[in-house]
Amino acid sequence: MNDIRPILAKLAKGNPFGEKVTLVAATKTRTPAEIDRAIQAGIEDIGENKVQEFTEKYDLVHGGRRHFIGHLQRNKVKYLIGKTFLIHSVDRDELAEEIARLSSKAGTVSDVLVQINIGEKESKGGYPPEEGMAAFTRLSRMEGLRVKGFMAMLPDTDEKEVLIPLCERMRELFERARERSSETEYLSMGMSGDWELCVEHGSNMVRLGTAIFGERNYPKA
Ligand SMILES: *Cc1c(COP(=O)(O)O)cnc(C)c1O
Repeated sequence: MNDIRPILAKLAKGNPFGEKVTLVAATKTRTPAEIDRAIQAGIEDIGENKVQEFTEKYDLVHGGRRHFIGHLQRNKVKYLIGKTFLIHSVDRDELAEEIARLSSKAGTVSDVLVQINIGEKESKGGYPPEEGMAAFTRLSRMEGLRVKGFMAMLPDTDEKEVLIPLCERMRELFERARERSSETEYLSMGMSGDWELCVEHGSNMVRLGTAIFGERNYPKA
């Protein structure tokens, strides 16, 4: 694991909008022992991107608010209900409806983010940016859901002139949503390669894997 004190120190300063920035450790492929070490080093939020890993590690990790950050199939929603602090990856109405339905049935409310396909790449999930507000409004009306903001993944490039306008567009969307609903709290945007730029341009929640744990070794298929 890397020394994360510089990251924690930088995030503790907040973003230029005067908001606290939440750090979510992206824990895919990491063992419960590694995740526990990260929690001991000051990590308070952890996120998995696969339901199977989320479930397998759920009781083996000690502490941490549990986030779900990856693509979610409708038939796997049942494994997450009542166990997540925040689901970041609500990218279609059918998924939102299923989370709402099962949450209501369980007598709970799930906090979620609306995922936006900000780079408008077909390979990436999410609502198109121009449909973001309408999706936010529709999902906010569903009983069993509390919509806390937006999540976005930036395209894989170092070109700031590409990335900054996309961050700004997400921030505008976030601020419009905040005018509509006092529940709006999070703009989840930023991974190991781009988090500093994202925070500078309006993110208040970053999801870091490699920057915390080092390179991932995927098991051979
Ligand atoms: C893995 C992952 C991250 C973190 O990626 P790094 O580049 O290792 O920081 C962030 N968000 C999601 C949805 C992920 O699956």
